Amino acid sequence: MSKFPSDKPVLVTCGLPYANGKAHVGHLRTYIPADIFVRALKKQGQEVTFVCGSDTHGTPIVVNAEQLNITPKELVRKYHKHFDDTFKDMNVNFDAFGTTDDPENYNRTTDIVNKLIENGYTYPKTIEIAYCPECDRSLPDRYVEGTCPYCGETARGDECDQGCEKHLEPGELKEPKCTICGGAAEYRKQEHYFFKLSEFKDFLLEHLEHMEGTSNARNYAIGWVKKELIDWCITRNLEWGVKFPGHDDLVVYVWVDAPIGYIAFTEEWAKENNEDWEKFWKGDGRIIHFIGGDITYHHCVFWPAMLKGAGYSQPWGVVASGMVKIENKKFSKSRGYVVWVGEDYLDHGFHPDLLRYYLTSYTSHTKELNFSWKVFQEKINTELVAVFGNFLYRTLLFTHKNFGEIPEGEIDREVLDKITDTITKVNKPMGEYEFKKAVDSAMALASYGNVYFQSNEPWKLIKKDKAACGKVVANCAQIAKALILLFEPVLPQKMEDAWKQIGMSSDVHAATYSDATVLVNSGTTLPKPTILFEKIEDDKTEEMETISNKRVAEAIAKESGTKEKEGAVKKMEEEIEIETITTEEITFDDFSKLDIRIGTIVTAEPVKKSNKLMRLEVDIGEDSPRQLVAGIKETHDPEQIIGRQVVVLANLKPAKLCGVESRGMVLAGDTEGAVLLMPEEEVAPGTRVR
Ligand SMILES: [Zn+2]
Ligand SMILES: [Zn+2]
Repeated sequence: MSKFPSDKPVLVTCGLPYANGKAHVGHLRTYIPADIFVRALKKQGQEVTFVCGSDTHGTPIVVNAEQLNITPKELVRKYHKHFDDTFKDMNVNFDAFGTTDDPENYNRTTDIVNKLIENGYTYPKTIEIAYCPECDRSLPDRYVEGTCPYCGETARGDECDQGCEKHLEPGELKEPKCTICGGAAEYRKQEHYFFKLSEFKDFLLEHLEHMEGTSNARNYAIGWVKKELIDWCITRNLEWGVKFPGHDDLVVYVWVDAPIGYIAFTEEWAKENNEDWEKFWKGDGRIIHFIGGDITYHHCVFWPAMLKGAGYSQPWGVVASGMVKIENKKFSKSRGYVVWVGEDYLDHGFHPDLLRYYLTSYTSHTKELNFSWKVFQEKINTELVAVFGNFLYRTLLFTHKNFGEIPEGEIDREVLDKITDTITKVNKPMGEYEFKKAVDSAMALASYGNVYFQSNEPWKLIKKDKAACGKVVANCAQIAKALILLFEPVLPQKMEDAWKQIGMSSDVHAATYSDATVLVNSGTTLPKPTILFEKIEDDKTEEMETISNKRVAEAIAKESGTKEKEGAVKKMEEEIEIETITTEEITFDDFSKLDIRIGTIVTAEPVKKSNKLMRLEVDIGEDSPRQLVAGIKETHDPEQIIGRQVVVLANLKPAKLCGVESRGMVLAGDTEGAVLLMPEEEVAPGTRVR
């Protein structure tokens, strides 16, 4: 049985952006799938609320504000607005987007900490705190750096961020250094408050056993709970933050009040909408947290224990996303491997929906995602433009030109069944947080639409039997309507436009999947269609790659010091140039020996014994399709490539691959994953390439 829709209301939250820097593609990997999930639940008729807000406390903000000579409040206000704007620009639609500096969060945090104190889950303890004699101050978290006691890497006060990623308690760091003046720090005794996390072992094991969401989060947390649970120091010597009750010189640790923000933002939403926040946090509403995999520990161990200890409901599910790579390099702002949402994407005129599509269709949510401009271009051009966009535009243009309205015509049983089946194939993986599978299933319906249009040849029918042609067109319009609804969660703005183009006047965002099988209204006048998805040209991709390369070169230059700056930039450029391939020259006669043709993929199926290979039958204009084997199993979905045109080297000596004969070769760009070549527009199978 599917978990959604359920009669229990759902609350979806996203890991809070830290109001100390700009939004980049890595951030969006959590927010966009969460937004898509929320929209998809609404399409299934599920009651759902979506909240988030800026994380505004903690030492990095204080350190940064100090350096900029502004107050922490001024700093966080600026970045809070930046994130709020970015989310709106990217069509991420929160019902509430607050900050952890809001009064609601101060009140809720104070209430929860008081409950923990009352219930006996906190205790004071004198510990060693890093102290800088030079600066004459305590050094919490980011104010101190040193050596990780577990792995030996350089770490900061509360986390081994470069090494084993362990959460570190105050006093654990070896050879502590003050990050303000760089001098050696010393440890001084001071009283702090601890949360008895160790008492929650049995509760956590039981809780995690039943926790929904992705298995990566669950398994990681269970491993941690079984291994060790250390009591958490939950106070810090700082001015900026929520005061620890009864102690004016202490604030609570940022990981206490940050997740409590989820509750505070729900309260803000409830106030605004005359709703009840307690149905989630004190009742049995389902709370689902979308987070980056790196904050699993905080959300699956610390947070549910704190909620339990204070008498609140615990999260129903945690969905953790995999990491993001930039051009196949580990994401790193300091090394220049970063793509900023504003200056690198939106400011260059890219539509937000395209990136939404890329981030969900690239790979499974829990796996590592690579952002590459070339792959971005390829996915947009071969999937959104060539398959989905092509189907919508050819259907609407043909209808508009020949009928001016949606014509009368019975919808085939087969078409309606295909739509119903696709809705199931989208809903099921969506409920399992398998967003790529859901998007691929929707795209398969677009391929089906193209085949339906192509094989029924309405352009021929219109000349001899207008009624029969009208029926084909009405069926295509029905498929288009279903596709628009199925793609609305991923491409909300584009589908709003498409919805109008098929003559619908209702709100596409409020429509549900059940509308997909409601028959299209014949007689609806259609406006002249416009192209929804434009091809991304090579020079645009090259421009973006140049920007990335330059940033990396600059980062290297910065690292090696200003003196060698020019040299380093030059060296980087050389490295890039070396990568261009040089090969022996051939004559035109040599080239003419190659029989290269355009073919259309008729069937595609994975070769069972192989991880990489797919068996294809490709129509290259001969009596029967050619059997070819291509190394595209990892990168392509068989259902999706049927009907697609490819470029085939037809006179290559046949060879057996994993026991399957390949009579020729499908040409592809040799990059990370195969990128199939395709003609600019559809041509007759067998067309020679010269
Ligand atoms: Zn470490
Ligand atoms: Zn110092």
